[in-house]
Amino acid sequence: MTDAPPKTPAFRLYRKYLSKLRPYSFPIGVGIASDLYATFLAMIPPLFSILLFDYAYPGRDLRLLTWVVAAGLVLYFINFFFSSINDYMNVFVDEKISTSLSLDMFRKIMHLPLLSPASKNVGDTTVRILEDADLTAGMLLNAPQALLINLANLGLFLVISLMLNPYVTLLSLASIPFYLLETEFFSGRLSELREETQKNRSETYDGLQERLLSLRTVKAFCREDHEALRFKIYLDRRIKLNIKQKIIGIISAFSNSFTLQIWSTFVAWYMGYQVVHGHLTLGQLLALSAYLPQIAGPIHELANLYTNFRVGMVSLRRVDEILSLPSEWDEAFAKEPLALERGKIDVQSLSFRYDELSQTLRKITFEVPEGSSLALVGGSGAGKSTIINLLLRFYDPSEGMIYFDGQTVGRAQIDALRGRMGAVFQEISLFAGTIRENILYGNPSASDEEMREAAQMAAAHDFIDALPLKYDSPVEHFGQNFSGGQRQRLAIARALAMKPKILVLDEASSALDAESEFLIQETIHRCKGKMTVVIVAHRFSSIKGVDKIVVLDRGTVAESGTFPQLMAKKGVFFTLYQLQMGGFQEFQQRMETEFARYQRYRQDLSVILLDVSNYDQLAQNEKAGRLARLMEELNLFLRKNLRIMDFCCVFRERELLIGLPETNFQNSVRLARRLRQKIAEQVFEVDEKGFKLDVVPKVASCREDFVRYPDELIEKAEEAPTDEGMADPDQTIREEKS
Ligand code: ATP
Repeated sequence: MTDAPPKTPAFRLYRKYLSKLRPYSFPIGVGIASDLYATFLAMIPPLFSILLFDYAYPGRDLRLLTWVVAAGLVLYFINFFFSSINDYMNVFVDEKISTSLSLDMFRKIMHLPLLSPASKNVGDTTVRILEDADLTAGMLLNAPQALLINLANLGLFLVISLMLNPYVTLLSLASIPFYLLETEFFSGRLSELREETQKNRSETYDGLQERLLSLRTVKAFCREDHEALRFKIYLDRRIKLNIKQKIIGIISAFSNSFTLQIWSTFVAWYMGYQVVHGHLTLGQLLALSAYLPQIAGPIHELANLYTNFRVGMVSLRRVDEILSLPSEWDEAFAKEPLALERGKIDVQSLSFRYDELSQTLRKITFEVPEGSSLALVGGSGAGKSTIINLLLRFYDPSEGMIYFDGQTVGRAQIDALRGRMGAVFQEISLFAGTIRENILYGNPSASDEEMREAAQMAAAHDFIDALPLKYDSPVEHFGQNFSGGQRQRLAIARALAMKPKILVLDEASSALDAESEFLIQETIHRCKGKMTVVIVAHRFSSIKGVDKIVVLDRGTVAESGTFPQLMAKKGVFFTLYQLQMGGFQEFQQRMETEFARYQRYRQDLSVILLDVSNYDQLAQNEKAGRLARLMEELNLFLRKNLRIMDFCCVFRERELLIGLPETNFQNSVRLARRLRQKIAEQVFEVDEKGFKLDVVPKVASCREDFVRYPDELIEKAEEAPTDEGMADPDQTIREEKS
């Protein structure tokens, strides 16, 4: 995490999170008390050996023997009972704290600015939320408990064994400095390894997620095995780290037990020496032999505690790095509540940069009056989506200001602003659940009536109504069980269900079919006057109806105006429009979509082929480039005269194709005649040179000609008789069929 706060000293950081234990003081107290009881009770049985060896056996006292054995059994069960209570309380509190830390982190991530690395590094954040929270909780709870209990253990056993024999006890304590040195050394290595392990886990999650989400791409490029090999690199690293961790653990345990063993042997020899010299009875020897390991136990545990503390601090630090990041609204610039009632937007000299190296937006200024629509267009990377993100206040402008209904928006008002804006993004994300839940996502209290209204406005109602479970139909993760167009409709319905004053629509740049394009046009049309619409448009044909278009070029406003104004200007927009609309390829794609609709809904589809009959004559006198521009002029002229849903392109140099969805043969013939007449009246100007064009139209229609493929329709139009033969369309059809 690059913007992590500077390292806080371990104990201060630990103290900061100790407050997490406070709400569970009672169960923690019960747990500690139970453990202390269990410890206290565990201290008694070794004393029984004095009773047995020094009194019961030498005195052949069967009664004492029976009492001691019975007392041992009772103590065992009481001890077991208290240990179980302690175990239960530990698990209970551990789970509670771990859940609370995970939830705190999740909340924090939800409220982080979008550009924060924690919002982007999904794998790393997942590991922190799920694993580090768990490890931190264990450490937070165990450290004070283990410290208290082991110190108490140590103290009590020390008192008893000192009373039994101070020399033997002090001798056994002399091993402590060795433990300290070992612990310091190994805990350092293990905490470094924990850091590496968590980093590796984060990378593994990231790698896994990226590949699973891109499965389609992986398969399409036949890279399954390659990806498996790449993923293996993470796993190999994980194995290495785990083995390294195990080896250090084993060496550390060996080193500890080596120290313990050497020392114990030495102490055992010394105890034997004391017995031989009559300074120690056999019973005392046996009691001490039972107590001394009990002293070594807490020392060993305290050493473990230190190691676990250092290793656990790695996770605590990772948790803290997220929790101490500033949330979006931490600084409250403006105290006044935001009153966004009209939806007027005023962008003044807006500049923005993602990093120091590049300036993404430079002095952008535009205004969107309330209830009107504005389209942002421009080449890829021009900054359109960045403006949308700034409008939604996902980022802070570097310079300049955005006013909503004449008011600036402070961080404290971000929620109020977004609550009045409906947003549809390029990557449409629906959540697993039902259609109802998805549409009502931003406004759960909306009524069924309001939900349906939103769906109708987004043209989603019909397809939802056709589903067996209608609005309760299930939605899979990311809305995978719906088509791109349906997802888009649902996303628009979700935005509209919020009853926004401003609708921002970042149109998906790829894979948009004519249906979606239609949807955008319809949405703009339906929202007119009701709310302000800002749309990022990649398909220029979808924004013919907007009130204003702002053309962006590398982060600046290149030009702005209405569609006809920009077309007349013949500047950047005109060039982009021509680039986008000119191709036959696009025409074919549209034909396929429209043809599918014809097949599905029996909506007619016709084609007009306009042949420029004086093309050869013009070609004799004009250069090829000039003729190509002339055909483009004709293409543009047609577009201006067609309906929004129609589409056309230049075909084979001298011809033009016009696709007419939902138009039957007769109407297409009528249109063809009108177009012919209009073109005949028009003088096309290319390089200030006027051209008169003569066109011959031919028409074919799906229903009339029983075509099976969209290309067949174009072929039919090529074969169709000229407009002379169209004088009696019915007769033409009869002839065709025969
Ligand atoms: P497109 O039409 O391809 O979606 P766009 O006009 O919407 O493009 P933006 O997404 O606004 O373009 O991007 C503008 C510039 O900012 C691009 O050069 C892009 O590389 C850069 N950019 C976008 N998002 C980020 C980001 N999160 N971090 C750094 N740079 C970014």
